[in-house]
Amino acid sequence: MKRTGFKRKPDSPFSSLANRGTALRRSAIKRRVRKPTVEEGAHYLAACRGEPCYLRVPGVCRLNPIDETVVPCHSNLLEHGAGKGIKADHRYTFPGCGACHFWLDQSTVPTKQERRDATLVALGRWIPVRKRKMAALEATR
Ligand SMILES: [Zn+2]
Repeated sequence: MKRTGFKRKPDSPFSSLANRGTALRRSAIKRRVRKPTVEEGAHYLAACRGEPCYLRVPGVCRLNPIDETVVPCHSNLLEHGAGKGIKADHRYTFPGCGACHFWLDQSTVPTKQERRDATLVALGRWIPVRKRKMAALEATR
C-alpha cells in the first residue's frame, strides 16, 4: 500500500488548529483577565509604606505602630498567582513587620493552614485600608 501522508480535508473540523469561533472566544477570555500594569503594581507596593504590621501574628508580632521593619509581603497562595518561582501579583501584598514576615515565609513554625489563614486575615484587614489610601492619593494628584 502506498503512503498518502496526512492531508486535511477542507471541510474537516481539524482543517485549522482552532476554528474562528474558538479563537474569538479565547481572545475574549484573554482580554477579560486584565493584568495590572507595572505602574499599578508599584502603587500597591508604595501603599504599604509607613503602615503598621497587618499580619499581627500572636506571640511573634511586636505590634509596634511605627515599625521600621514593615515591608510589602507577597501572598504565597496559589490562587494569588504564587508558585513556579514567581512572586504573587502585587495586588496580593500587605504590610508585614520583619518578625511576622519571617514567621510566614521562612520559618517552619506555621502549618500550611496557619500560613493560609494569616495571609487571608492580613489581606482582609489591609485591602479596605489600601483602597481608601490609594483613592486619597489619587485625589491629590
Ligand atoms: Zn508583625
